[in-house]
Amino acid sequence: MRGAGASRGKPKTDRPRRGMFRRKRVCRFCVDKVEFIDYKEVRMLIASIPERGKIQPRRLSGTCAKHQRKLQTAIKRARQLALIPYVTD
Ligand SMILES: [Zn+2]
Repeated sequence: MRGAGASRGKPKTDRPRRGMFRRKRVCRFCVDKVEFIDYKEVRMLIASIPERGKIQPRRLSGTCAKHQRKLQTAIKRARQLALIPYVTD
């Protein structure tokens, strides 16, 4: 289903327009209410791995400690299964 002309105009309007995009300090997993990070979800993992294949630090990603840890575990597992690369070069 595609949201065709769904709800418009959010109640909260106190959002300063600073920063380009994806610069929020909120953990995206918390926002999505992700409790378990699946190592099979390659797409999600790849989003946390910038080009070099390293895991993006919390500082940059804004991921909270809890989720960062789960993410790390998931990434490591995915690497072992060769779902994602150790190093991209
Ligand atoms: Zn979180």
